[in-house]
Amino acid sequence: MIDAHTRLALLLGYPVEHSRSPLIHNTAFQVQGINAVYLALPVPAAALPAAVEGLRAFRVLGANVTIPHKEAVLPLLDTCTERARAVGAVNTIVCQHGDDPEAPPRLLGDNTDVAGFVAPLVDYRARIEGAAATVLGAGGAARAVTYGLLTTFRPARLTLAARRPVQADRLAADLAAVDDRGVLRVVPLAEAAGAVEASALVVNTTPVGMHPAVDATPWPAGASVAPGHLVYDLIYNPRRTRLLREAAAAGAVVIGGLPMLVEQAAAAYEQWTGRPMPVGAVRTAVQREIEHAA
Ligand code: NAP
Repeated sequence: MIDAHTRLALLLGYPVEHSRSPLIHNTAFQVQGINAVYLALPVPAAALPAAVEGLRAFRVLGANVTIPHKEAVLPLLDTCTERARAVGAVNTIVCQHGDDPEAPPRLLGDNTDVAGFVAPLVDYRARIEGAAATVLGAGGAARAVTYGLLTTFRPARLTLAARRPVQADRLAADLAAVDDRGVLRVVPLAEAAGAVEASALVVNTTPVGMHPAVDATPWPAGASVAPGHLVYDLIYNPRRTRLLREAAAAGAVVIGGLPMLVEQAAAAYEQWTGRPMPVGAVRTAVQREIEHAA
């Protein structure tokens, strides 16, 4: 029931129509009986500063930020977490409300993609800690993935395999401060078979295999999959990509993108509401919606 006490959480992006965040957060608010509503707002680049000031004026609970504003929003905030600064992108804004109801909140930027990505891997710590890993792709998600792997699992070697190696070189240079053991290296995606075969963990951060082009796979030609592989695809639509189906058929352990999608939202939700997200109910709702839309 929306009334005069209803609090607001927002998504700022452009476009936002395909976002699953409203479903995720509104499901959680309803399940927990929290009087709040989450809306996705299309914000063109020129309107971003005004939209961020609006968060203060309307004293919102918090906001998510998506493409194309994840980097541009950083200088508009009061402060940000170390991981958001290192990754160079903010996907979550926490409005820090003080005791004075008339004072505008301070805006803290965070990057919850890091925690969202790491969460499903914690069960496999023994097989990936200190082992080699490969990340396919070098875009925005790859930055959070690389930061999460370097700071959580201390890989022996972390290979960034990108079709434009210059993009991966830039990523490696930007994250040099957290690569204190010098384990990052870059290879062209077409030449990544050796690195992939030698890795305990392979993470796909490219959109290759995403709906509707579901017959594509980013797995490098000529590389074989072994039962020792853990293959993690950030794509959540479809739930089982061709990459994951083929890896599972070869005996590898596989993880899809849905747990990360829910866990990155949960990390934001908890900071906004002070309560853990009911992730089971949320995952069921998102899965149902994806299957319905397919
Ligand atoms: P992005 O910034 O556009 O980066 C995509 C990366 O993939 C770039 O390095 C891009 O290279 C590369 N790439 C694109 N098409 C390719 C192709 N045909 N062959 C080889 N490489 C290709 O996108 P993003 O924000 O990182 O998102 C990437 C994927 O992760 C999407 O599928 C997204 O849905 C998913 N994702 C999932 C979650 C989750 O919570 N599960 C969170 C974030 C992202 P170029 O720059 O050369 O195009």
